[in-house]
Amino acid sequence: MNLIQDFWTQNVCVRRNAEQLDSRYTKFQAGPTGIMVHSTAAPGRMAKAFRDSWDIASGSDGKVFEKAVAAFLDNTEIRQCMPFNYRGYHAGGTANDSYIGFEICEPPGFKYGGGATMVGYDPEAQQPYFDAVYTQTAQLCAFLCKTFNIKPEYPNLICHSEGCTLGIASNHADVMHWWPKHGKSMDTLRADVAALLAGKEENEDMTDAQFAEFMGRYISGLRADKTAPSWLSPDVIQNAKNAGVITGDASGNLQLNGLVTRAEVIAMTSHYQLKG
Ligand SMILES: [Zn+2]
Repeated sequence: MNLIQDFWTQNVCVRRNAEQLDSRYTKFQAGPTGIMVHSTAAPGRMAKAFRDSWDIASGSDGKVFEKAVAAFLDNTEIRQCMPFNYRGYHAGGTANDSYIGFEICEPPGFKYGGGATMVGYDPEAQQPYFDAVYTQTAQLCAFLCKTFNIKPEYPNLICHSEGCTLGIASNHADVMHWWPKHGKSMDTLRADVAALLAGKEENEDMTDAQFAEFMGRYISGLRADKTAPSWLSPDVIQNAKNAGVITGDASGNLQLNGLVTRAEVIAMTSHYQLKG
C-alpha cells in the first residue's frame, strides 16, 4: 500500500473539521464507524490530479466547493487528502456523518454512455489496472478497519450504491457498475479485507530486535542526510557556524535534519556561551 499524505489546504472541509464546526464533526472525529467505497466515473483521471483539483475553496460557479473525500486511490498510490477521522462530503446523505469515504480512480480507455454505462470498456485489457486498485482498496480498508476498530462487514464496509439502498447515500451506481466486470463485488472485498485482518493479527508483534533495527536505519538515514530544511536560510546556518554553535561531524556534515542528543545540546550551548 503506497499511502501518500498530501493534505488539502484550501478545501473548506479541512477547515471546518479543524474548527470542529459543529457536533457532526466532533462526533466523526471521535471515531468513524464505517467505510464507503466510491469510484470517480472520470476515466483516466488519476489520484494526484483529482486531489489537486479539489483543493479549492470555491468552484468555477463561485459557490463554496463542498466535495471532500479522505483519499483518492489509483493503480500506483493512495493520495490522502485529509486525516481519516475528518468528516467528508462524499455520500450525498447521512452516511457522511459516520462513514469514511474514498474514491477509486478509473482507468483511461473508455467512456460513459447514459448514466453509469461504461462504453468501450475492455475488462481483459483493464485487468492489470483493476487488480492494482482492488488490492490497494483491500489494503486501505484493512488499515482503516484496524485503526478505527471497524468490522469489515455489511453495512459497515459498503460502496456508494449499497449506501443508496440503505437510504444513507444519494442514487449513484459506484462501484457495482464496474467491479462485476472483473468478477469482484463488495462481498468479495469484505471477505478479502477480513482475510487480511486475520492474517495480520498472527504476525502483529514486532520483536525488540526488529524495532532496534528499524530505529537504527531511521537514525543513520537522518545522519547521512546532507540537505537543509527549506525554511532554514543559509545566513542563519552561517551565523550558527560563526558563533561556534554547530561544527558538524568528522566529515563536516552539519546533519541539519539529524536528531540531537542531550550531550550535543550541552556542547552546542557551551560553545555559544564561551564565544559570547
Ligand atoms: Zn460515489
